[in-house]
Amino acid sequence: MTHPTYPDTQLFIDGQWQDAADGRTLAVFNPATDQAIGRVAHAGRADLDRALAAAQKGFETWRDMPAASRGAIMRKAAGLVRERADAMARLLTLEQGKPLVEARGETLAAADIIEWFAEEGLRVYGRIVPSRGRLELRQMVLKDPVGPVAAFTPWNFPINQVVRKVGAALAAGCSMVVKAAEETPASPAALIRAFADAGLPAGVLGLVYGTPAEISGYLIAHPVIRKITFTGSTLVGKQLAALAGQHMKRVTMELGGHAPVIVAEDADVALTVKTAGGAKFRNAGQVCISPTRFLVHRSVQDEFVRALTQHAQSLRVGDGLAEDTQMGPLANARRMTAMAEFTQDAVERGAALLTGGGRTGEAGNYWQPTVLADVPLGARVFNEEPFGPIAAVRGFEQLKDAIAEANRLPYGLAAYAFTRSLKNTDLLARRLEVGMLWVNMPAMTSGELPFGGVKDSGYGSEGGPEALEAYLNTRTVCVMNV
Ligand code: NAD
Repeated sequence: MTHPTYPDTQLFIDGQWQDAADGRTLAVFNPATDQAIGRVAHAGRADLDRALAAAQKGFETWRDMPAASRGAIMRKAAGLVRERADAMARLLTLEQGKPLVEARGETLAAADIIEWFAEEGLRVYGRIVPSRGRLELRQMVLKDPVGPVAAFTPWNFPINQVVRKVGAALAAGCSMVVKAAEETPASPAALIRAFADAGLPAGVLGLVYGTPAEISGYLIAHPVIRKITFTGSTLVGKQLAALAGQHMKRVTMELGGHAPVIVAEDADVALTVKTAGGAKFRNAGQVCISPTRFLVHRSVQDEFVRALTQHAQSLRVGDGLAEDTQMGPLANARRMTAMAEFTQDAVERGAALLTGGGRTGEAGNYWQPTVLADVPLGARVFNEEPFGPIAAVRGFEQLKDAIAEANRLPYGLAAYAFTRSLKNTDLLARRLEVGMLWVNMPAMTSGELPFGGVKDSGYGSEGGPEALEAYLNTRTVCVMNV
């Protein structure tokens, strides 16, 4: 049975919403209830071919529009997203589970991101390089959009992950075929609809769903596609980057993380728990920059663990649509299995389970906010991205040991630190191998700030001027004025 206020999602190809050519669909579930709420069209090869042809045509139109005109359409789309934020947030919560307040925040942030990129598109400058010889020689460095892009996005931030890619690509003059997550299809479709309603020419944006590996395999290899951008797990990211390499395609990879939270001996423990505890359980921990490894100085470890446990126990877990819910369900049953395995493994290896550690409720993917203390380094949760509401804590004696532990894993996305010392902060800022560091605060992201990782967390940035650069080719043109 479908949900009365949840729409079925079609493909968006060449400016038209349409079913798959062969009529195939997939079911969409509400993770708060386990109920099927709607269906999403499943693209086949014929649909992808039409999306690719449209993306080529759309690129040729969009590339030749002045940046100011492109920006005007983008700003109009941002306005529509703001107008529709309540409805979009509801779709997001229904299909993904996060509390409405988080879904609304994600939607409104999307409008800000579109606007920022609309403005930044005006600042795609080339340069004139002085000649070493004759003054009649004009040496120009020009920036061109790379061409049609294929984007692959996950289910944890169904709107945000799409808008970061779409905003930068459109501002640079590229067209894009988006394959958003099949599990959360309606909210990204609502985002794409805002662009279409704002007057985006047909073909500039396409939206498809289907079998992820089939679609990515076909699009990445296809000659129309000039760039790939992916957000998701490191495992899949490496596969897609390898495929892109075979076809010599430009790539941006925003992959998994395992963010250390370093709590120094001089940290404000109450602030740390409020900030990092809040961040830990946001979106039920299904965030690539979620705090995951809490490394706490021994002198404040007991106080910290007590307060974090109280915080976890105080959270109201429930359906994201309910007003007072602070943490919703996990987005799918796979995450429930993963949480059970991470917890059992840690306890078997000697970690102390201080709270949580099991499911709650009869239906829906509800996992209790969980705190594990004295977690051995060998525990899976201290090595693999947990991607769920488990806080794993260990003590340390010296800051340099905490830094070494933070850098031990191949991940290098985000880190957090709590300290009042400038000396500590300076050392952390220089030594932590991450793309983003927040000190005494939760993660703050915006269109204008680069967002991305190093090492196995990927390469490229999804914010700031760097995000646009990733969608631009550099061309040298020299003219002798004879
Ligand atoms: P998964 O790796 O199978 O899928 C993650 C996302 O990638 C999904 O949206 C999926 O549709 C897509 N995907 C998978 N294979 C693909 C392929 N061959 N081509 C194109 N897209 C593909 O795992 P999952 O069970 O959905 O999520 C589990 C793990 O994924 C988490 O533990 C986490 O590490 C990671 N993840 C990371 C992010 C992020 O923001 N970096 C988001 C979601 C999931």
